[in-house]
Amino acid sequence: MREFKIAQPKTVEELAALLAETKEKALIMAGGTDLIDELKSGVAAPDLVVDIQGVAGLAGIARDKDGLRIGPMTTVAALAGNADVVRDYPILKEAALSLATPQLRNAGTVGGNLCQRPRCWYYRDPQVLCRKKGGFNCFAFQGRNKYHAILGGGGCFIVYPSDLASALISLGARVTIGSARGDKVMPLEDFYKPPSVDVTKENILARDEFLKEVRVPGPKPGRKGTYVKLKERGTWDFAIASAAVTGVVKGGVFSEISIVAGGLATIPWRMKRAEDILRGKPATEALVSQAAGEALKDSSPLAENAYKKDLAAAAIKRAVLALL
Ligand SMILES: Cc1cc2nc3c(=O)[nH]c(=O)nc-3n(C[C@H](O)[C@H](O)[C@H](O)COP(=O)(O)OP(=O)(O)OC[C@H]3O[C@@H](n4cnc5c(N)ncnc54)[C@H](O)[C@@H]3O)c2cc1C
Repeated sequence: MREFKIAQPKTVEELAALLAETKEKALIMAGGTDLIDELKSGVAAPDLVVDIQGVAGLAGIARDKDGLRIGPMTTVAALAGNADVVRDYPILKEAALSLATPQLRNAGTVGGNLCQRPRCWYYRDPQVLCRKKGGFNCFAFQGRNKYHAILGGGGCFIVYPSDLASALISLGARVTIGSARGDKVMPLEDFYKPPSVDVTKENILARDEFLKEVRVPGPKPGRKGTYVKLKERGTWDFAIASAAVTGVVKGGVFSEISIVAGGLATIPWRMKRAEDILRGKPATEALVSQAAGEALKDSSPLAENAYKKDLAAAAIKRAVLALL
């Protein structure tokens, strides 16, 4: 492991100033469950690690008139056990409890989950200089690609691994990005960018920015949501296909519907074609099957991962039917 310095700011202002002023390559550490693996393997080699465990005000969940405000240092376990989440946002609880193991959920944070790096075996191999690490090739493209992207690829075929991201996007969550230049708020959906924008990263954060807050709109009468995650193993595992669905069925019609797929694409993927088929139409099983079948029409499987199309259609169908 390469040596690095460590900084431990105590306030959000100190954190913002530190990121703005440092000339060194700095990486934020939240719970460390992803970053420390990367440091140990050498896949990440910063000069400075900015440990944000001690920054006041970044952990916790509060409720106000606009909904939930989730601090990025809230652990995944605390999110899953929060009374408001359990009562009003079961989809979030399901996504949180679907990920990793109890130990990792106790240490890993919401912010870390939303900013975690991909699990592609070529990216995680310190011997391999792939495009994401500044090289010229995506080795998954012609190599072993069973777990790789069938949507949003091109130059790089990682799958974005966060279960929370899909659930939060389907709920219409927004994020606050902090920096010494001031805060900015945007839909979580716009936080992620495909490799065609910048192959070396998965989100829009600049080097002086950090994830400061996640905001989830308040609950709405009749709105339901569910998270369906399909894994290769019965024990902890990342999704090979997942569907986060939030919607309202009113008078037998899909009056609102939001479908976000995970495990399939380089970023959490909004299933707009399926949403368009369902929105405003009678909520029948036949229509749901049609929408799920057509959802993957634009996908481009690689040699070993066409099987994901059927799995994704099944996950979408199951999650949408749970709204009825
Ligand atoms: C064995 C294993 C299984 C797992 N299974 C799943 C799974 O099934 N589904 C799933 O979704 N995840 C899974 N994970 C990922 C796990 O959820 C993450 O490791 C965890 O949530 C990261 O949180 P952390 O606080 O430890 O982040 P860290 O490791 O501290 O950071 C992760 C990344 O996020 C960045 N970061 C952290 N906080 C911020 C912030 N506030 N602003 C900007 N950047 C930030 C860091 O710089 C780093 O790049 C698994 C991990 C392991 C090790």
